[in-house]
Amino acid sequence: MATIMHVDMDSFFAAVEQRDNPELRGKPVIVGGTRDSKRGVVSTCSYEARKYGVHSAMPIAQAVKLCPHGIFIPGNHKKYAAVSKQIRAVFYEFSPAVEIVSIDEAFLDMTGCEHLYETLEDLGRAVKERIRETVSLTASVGIGPNKFIAKLASDHRKPDGLVVIPPEEVWDWLAPFPVKKVWGIGQKTAEVLASWQIHTIADLRRCSQESLIRQFGKQGLTLYQLARGIDHRAVEPESETKSLGRETTFAEDIAAISKLRQVLADLAAEVGYRLRQHELWARTITLKLRYDDFTTITRSTSLPEPVNNDDDIFNTAHRLLVDNIGRRPVRLLGVYVSQLTPFGQASLFSDPRREKLTRVMDELNTRHGRPVLYKGRRLPLDGDK
Ligand SMILES: [Mg+2]
Repeated sequence: MATIMHVDMDSFFAAVEQRDNPELRGKPVIVGGTRDSKRGVVSTCSYEARKYGVHSAMPIAQAVKLCPHGIFIPGNHKKYAAVSKQIRAVFYEFSPAVEIVSIDEAFLDMTGCEHLYETLEDLGRAVKERIRETVSLTASVGIGPNKFIAKLASDHRKPDGLVVIPPEEVWDWLAPFPVKKVWGIGQKTAEVLASWQIHTIADLRRCSQESLIRQFGKQGLTLYQLARGIDHRAVEPESETKSLGRETTFAEDIAAISKLRQVLADLAAEVGYRLRQHELWARTITLKLRYDDFTTITRSTSLPEPVNNDDDIFNTAHRLLVDNIGRRPVRLLGVYVSQLTPFGQASLFSDPRREKLTRVMDELNTRHGRPVLYKGRRLPLDGDK
């Protein structure tokens, strides 16, 4: 049985503002725009503001009417992103399998980590405590046998909540919830169900699988399962599912390996730069080749350690190029990286001087919005954009 944790920061943006400005504590803080902003919507509000009926996605103008003495703040997304990053680092202290849902919300697959704590409550408390120590903010945590239960649990006792639902309690715990709490049941579906006198999850269990599928199609099966606390979706660490890369098609086919090598260096540098911008490392490097007859091949190498340095990416891709080029002219060349991870060493063959050079080049290239610095082999090609 899996152990899934859902962590949701409590009124995140407003809480950050209250943390950094003591005068805002205990007051209705509404983040999303200034009081007179015509088109603004509430992105978060403090619990004090919620008492007046203010909620996220509400137009600012309406929030002003409901809560005239509220404190309206446009918000500082750069700051929130920085805090979010600190919180993510805490998540990775507890599990390598983290699915980031949004800036203030994540699933952690804790399966196999349970034995490190006496109880799941202890585990939940440890995560909350580390978050509090690190960013001085409260989070609500839900723990259950799957994502659906974990998310419902974290939402159950906000703010600063901790709710653990062991597998054997799922059936009874779920029963009284309104159907709208079921993932995927929106206004429309809820209305159809209400017309069938189905209001709670217990009611929903009276519907046969066939009738739900007849009415809602494929989603009907999901509803049938969720009503029973069954949810097979896995926690998907964002970085494992993604890959990134660059490819280029030539105006004229190229057969000269020296010329291909230059293009490859360009591509590797761009991919490396993007990895570093995302603070990710890649374990697998893939070369894509399209020959003059449109045959396309991809060849990959997985490395013992994740990398994000241009040289490591280039060297690996170059080896693949040499092994696969033959004598055929090439139409398209691409470099992709996958099996991405937020943990990595400075580099495969850590060389502080090279790391420093990379950082300086990244900074300059970022500042100019285009590559201005090239390493020796990376000379701009004729006709390069
Ligand atoms: Mg939240």
